[in-house]
Amino acid sequence: MVSFEFDEVHQDFAKTLRAFSDQELLPRYRDRAASTDFPFDAYKQLGDLGVLGIGLPEEFGGTGEEDPVLLGLATETLAAGDVNVASAPVQLGLVASQFMHCGREVQERYLPPLISGDETAAIALTEPGSGSDASALRTTATPVPGGWNINGEKTAITWAMNATTALVYARTPGTSRTSGISCFVVPMNEKGVSAHQMLGMGCLPLGWGSIHFDDVFVPTENLVGDEGRGFHAVMGHFDFSRAALGLLCLGAARQSLDEAVAYAQERETFGHPIADYQGISFLIAEHATYLEAARWICYRALWMRATGQPHTALASMGKWWPPVVAKNAIEAAMRIHGNLGYSAEFPLQQRYRDVTAYLVADGTSEIQKRIISKNVFARKTVAL
Ligand SMILES: Cc1cc2nc3c(=O)[nH]c(=O)nc-3n(C[C@H](O)[C@H](O)[C@H](O)COP(=O)(O)OP(=O)(O)OC[C@H]3O[C@@H](n4cnc5c(N)ncnc54)[C@H](O)[C@@H]3O)c2cc1C
Repeated sequence: MVSFEFDEVHQDFAKTLRAFSDQELLPRYRDRAASTDFPFDAYKQLGDLGVLGIGLPEEFGGTGEEDPVLLGLATETLAAGDVNVASAPVQLGLVASQFMHCGREVQERYLPPLISGDETAAIALTEPGSGSDASALRTTATPVPGGWNINGEKTAITWAMNATTALVYARTPGTSRTSGISCFVVPMNEKGVSAHQMLGMGCLPLGWGSIHFDDVFVPTENLVGDEGRGFHAVMGHFDFSRAALGLLCLGAARQSLDEAVAYAQERETFGHPIADYQGISFLIAEHATYLEAARWICYRALWMRATGQPHTALASMGKWWPPVVAKNAIEAAMRIHGNLGYSAEFPLQQRYRDVTAYLVADGTSEIQKRIISKNVFARKTVAL
């Protein structure tokens, strides 16, 4: 028998976060989104609410047991209030899952301040010459006495401008493709590290930018996991971040459609509320259906992760389709609002610009379809 119900702990947590999202995040979403300043105050509040420690060890301030479904639910709920703030638990989840492969000393140094919201960490994988084809990266980590020297450039990195630390993927000189790529913990204030802002059409507060590494020394203990296994390690963690990002987009879309429902019942044309016209009500019905379908793909992927079942293809489905569904739903909500939907006085246009980032970030739609089709052909069936 299948259950589509969240358990009591999940429901209670979502209720708390919904109140926080409505009262604290939504009213200031547009102001935060218009600025390149990272919202440290909201971030710290997430730390206080326990959102940044979901599924991380209690000894470091986390909630304990891994709980991908709760992470997705938190992200979806927060995204109704602020798309950018809501991405924090996913970023933290991805970062922290890799810190779990570090030595005890490094974990003790970095995990508590990340979980409490006092420090931030970027994931630096993409380079000017390698995005989708990430294993073609060129940044080098040359062995030197006591550690490595890192040289190279990363681009399009979320939190580049506000991170205190970065997880940097670099290869041992002379290696190619995935072999020889390792992951390193690099403090952003280390000599030789410099970050430069990049402006996008949305997501301004996320401090998107490039990071340059010029002979940056990294001590031996800052290696994450095994040498030469960095690429494989991060790819496995994308399986939860992708489905969670799908839910982030859907949370923003649901809020937008809810706003459109309220507006359609109130706005009158030709003597009737526009909700009375099927041109409007069917639009809402269609997007409500797409949202519902896309949402369960994401939760099923997270549930399969939680129960230890293969979920790579499902996670990719949860990354390519939900951002598209969400973008289209937000566009519909904007159209239902007429000129107000386009107005900067309303949050709809902002959500549209912020959600659009996830058509590309964390792997494009084409790359997700590549993963899904590879999986389908290997199993010789589309059944999951
Ligand atoms: C808002 C945002 C935040 C980001 N944050 C981070 C971050 O924190 N850390 C990080 O490391 N990176 C980050 N990125 C980078 C992101 O992961 C890459 O942009 C993405 O993987 C695509 O790489 P690319 O931009 O180099 O495009 P390319 O790989 O050059 O792709 C260009 C186009 O070709 C398509 N394409 C490529 N290969 C194939 C193929 N085999 N079949 C079909 N189509 C193909 C792509 O889908 C795309 O449409 C972020 C990007 C954005 C937009």
